[in-house]
Amino acid sequence: MASLGTYAKEKGVKYFLIAFVDLFGTMRAKIVPATAIDLIAKSGAGFAGFATWLDLTPAHPDMMVMPDLETAIQLPWKPEVAWITGDLIMDGKPLAQNPRQVLKRVIGLAAKDGYEMRTGVECEYFLIQPDGSAISDGADIQAKPCYDQQALMRRYEVIKEICDSMIALGWNPYQNDHEDANGQFEMNWEYDTCLRTADKHAFFKFMVKSVAEKHGLRATFMPKPFLNLTGNGCHAHVSLWNTAGDNVFDDSHGEMGLSNEAYHFIGGVLHSADALTAITNPTVNSYKRINAPRTMSGATWSPNTATYGGNNRTHMIRIPEAGRFELRLADGATNPYLLQAALLTVGLDGLKAKRDPGRRIDLDMYAEGHTVTDAKRLPLNLLDALRALEHSSVLRKGLGEDVVASYIKLRQIEWNEYANQLTDWERRTTLDC
Ligand SMILES: [Mg+2]
Repeated sequence: MASLGTYAKEKGVKYFLIAFVDLFGTMRAKIVPATAIDLIAKSGAGFAGFATWLDLTPAHPDMMVMPDLETAIQLPWKPEVAWITGDLIMDGKPLAQNPRQVLKRVIGLAAKDGYEMRTGVECEYFLIQPDGSAISDGADIQAKPCYDQQALMRRYEVIKEICDSMIALGWNPYQNDHEDANGQFEMNWEYDTCLRTADKHAFFKFMVKSVAEKHGLRATFMPKPFLNLTGNGCHAHVSLWNTAGDNVFDDSHGEMGLSNEAYHFIGGVLHSADALTAITNPTVNSYKRINAPRTMSGATWSPNTATYGGNNRTHMIRIPEAGRFELRLADGATNPYLLQAALLTVGLDGLKAKRDPGRRIDLDMYAEGHTVTDAKRLPLNLLDALRALEHSSVLRKGLGEDVVASYIKLRQIEWNEYANQLTDWERRTTLDC
């Protein structure tokens, strides 16, 4: 692409959304007319950092988003607008706590060791009523609604528009389904390098919400919007590649078709699982998905222990086939960039320290989990997870001391706000104490 101005002329783009994702995963943007885009591409689009979740003060100078031409996407549902993201610059220097730059730095560390992580993400979401009070389809009431064809087809127009968009964008989507909760859906597209997957993940959330709104609905990726229903997971499928283009996780002689490197990587994920949870499950609500009681469909499909198994969905890590593993921990609230950055960080630590993942557990953890007495439990709430992150030298060093300190500080404020609420439940249980 010669310039964004030329891109706009060729594609009939009138406006650009110059966007970035802050530490809480919120996407921020400015609308820039195509007539000014070449100027803005040089100088950057300015934002006041304090107004976003980046741990900056009102006294900080403007931060500039420098659009990366490679990331430009013409909105399939509104072709006169193109979306673009890039690096954040302040005072002429890169802004370390921009999640996309955090990921790029960790990718650089992996590249030094000759590795490239490739991932696919499964972003579950609910289609709900615009006021958020209930799912949008009143007829979607089956006790086991997963793959329900009738309910799936009642949302065909939304699913089709999103899937058509992914086809047009070259993401190679390959299946769409009704998930395990009433009103819940999942769409799968091809895996990619972890940076491109993070960009697509961020854009996918924007696209799903936008298309749902266009159809008079609302999409939510909230980890547990309804207590009796399965929550929104964001499972990640992970493989690691060398510079020769080989999947180093793949070993036909290895246990379950995985190499020693793969098991060390998994060992690293298990070693740092409690701290990792602060990134993969970043909200108060996240802990109502993991560690949850049985849902109406019979299972939560989310883990509560840091364990791994074969093709068994009751563990934090599943090995579905040779050459990759699935991390089932993350939820819909995870930051698309920090998810990848944290995962790669703990995996690289596993490789360097040759971490032992321990034994594979071939049990149904929902039915027989109590028999595994040595399994590490996942944090029970956000506060526990934040404390684990604070104590994790692996993640602090890997993601950057300042970034982790900022992240913990902002999430701690959120936790305190939550903890300072006086709930009806407290009054009910304690008023007559
Ligand atoms: Mg799923």
